[in-house]
Amino acid sequence: MPLMAHLECIRCRHQVSMQMPPAVAIPPSVCPVDGGTLLVRYDMQALRIWARREKSAELAARPGHSLGMWRYAEVLPEVTPISLGEGWTPLLQSRRHARLLIKDEGFNPTGTAEARGVAMAVSLAVGSAGGPQERRPLAALSVATAAYAAAAGRKAHLFLPRDLSPENELHAVLYGAQAHLVDGPREQCQRQLEQEMNVRRTARDGMKELWIDLSAPLHPFRVEGDKTLGYELVEQMGWTYPDALLWPAGDAISLIGVWKAFEEMEALGWVVGRRPRVYVGEIAAGRFAAELDSGSLEIVVASGGKVVKQDERKMLAALSDFARRDGVFLSPQGAATAAAFELLAGNREIRSDERSVLVNPSAAWRDDDALRAASPLLRLGRLPTSLPVGGIITPV
Ligand SMILES: [Zn+2]
Repeated sequence: MPLMAHLECIRCRHQVSMQMPPAVAIPPSVCPVDGGTLLVRYDMQALRIWARREKSAELAARPGHSLGMWRYAEVLPEVTPISLGEGWTPLLQSRRHARLLIKDEGFNPTGTAEARGVAMAVSLAVGSAGGPQERRPLAALSVATAAYAAAAGRKAHLFLPRDLSPENELHAVLYGAQAHLVDGPREQCQRQLEQEMNVRRTARDGMKELWIDLSAPLHPFRVEGDKTLGYELVEQMGWTYPDALLWPAGDAISLIGVWKAFEEMEALGWVVGRRPRVYVGEIAAGRFAAELDSGSLEIVVASGGKVVKQDERKMLAALSDFARRDGVFLSPQGAATAAAFELLAGNREIRSDERSVLVNPSAAWRDDDALRAASPLLRLGRLPTSLPVGGIITPV
């Protein structure tokens, strides 16, 4: 235990060995044949034998708070965790909606669900490749990586959009990272990071320090961290699926990990029944806009769910409602998802007897700047409330 076997492409099933030469440090992020997403595969037969022997009761006895997402060690890559306490976030009962639970990922270190995937990727990158003399810096696009690099005692280089909220740069610098500000969106940051990686790869020996690139959001190791959210959700619901899953567009990529968790849990006999319908709350335009990637969209469609487009005012109305009536301060992305729930519950696409889980991907304070920009709308009397919804939802 654990029984990580190889990487497998989800398109062509091509297998990549996990035995990396020391110079490579971490495996490729996409299939070398067709560029498809690579996922970590385990020896499921051996895992099934383990699962039969230990059953989930043994798992349930483990302390969530002290282990966090690492309580699922048997179904994760073997690694010494660089942990800041990620995972085992609360599943809160909504005060207003009797059948709605809120999975609040804002409780993660650095205030975001991203901490799960980053913790795993940094742990594996730092734990592999080279002896103690080789301490390559980590290159990435997210502040969460700066925090984990600090915990690992590594230097981090972050490529951030110049016009992103100034908080991001401040947080990066506080964690001791070097912030490289880029004119343009996230894609431009990615390109600049890749260029810098290439320069370093082709530079003559010793002229430039080599970095470890952790920027790929779908790197197989990040997916392994993301998937713990799926395990947790099902365990916190007594090893059952919810009927509907409300997911933020800005964090849709982690759906791929969560779906992988469902697949593994079904293979292990830990959960049965129909997987939830996935509904994604998308904000159509403006500074909170976020779009769905194609891999996540496939999951949404296959699940029988859909993408619900909302405008910014609906999102802000839901944000204010959940804060005032539930005491839960959602992030803008979480609030867009909440607005989608209000709409779907109102038109009975989600029935009142169905159990729903709303995923809030990050803490509201991560978007301080964005919330300040929205504050004129949030002042009382300026914003229409999203309530009532026609008396369909039972108030608690
Ligand atoms: Zn492939």
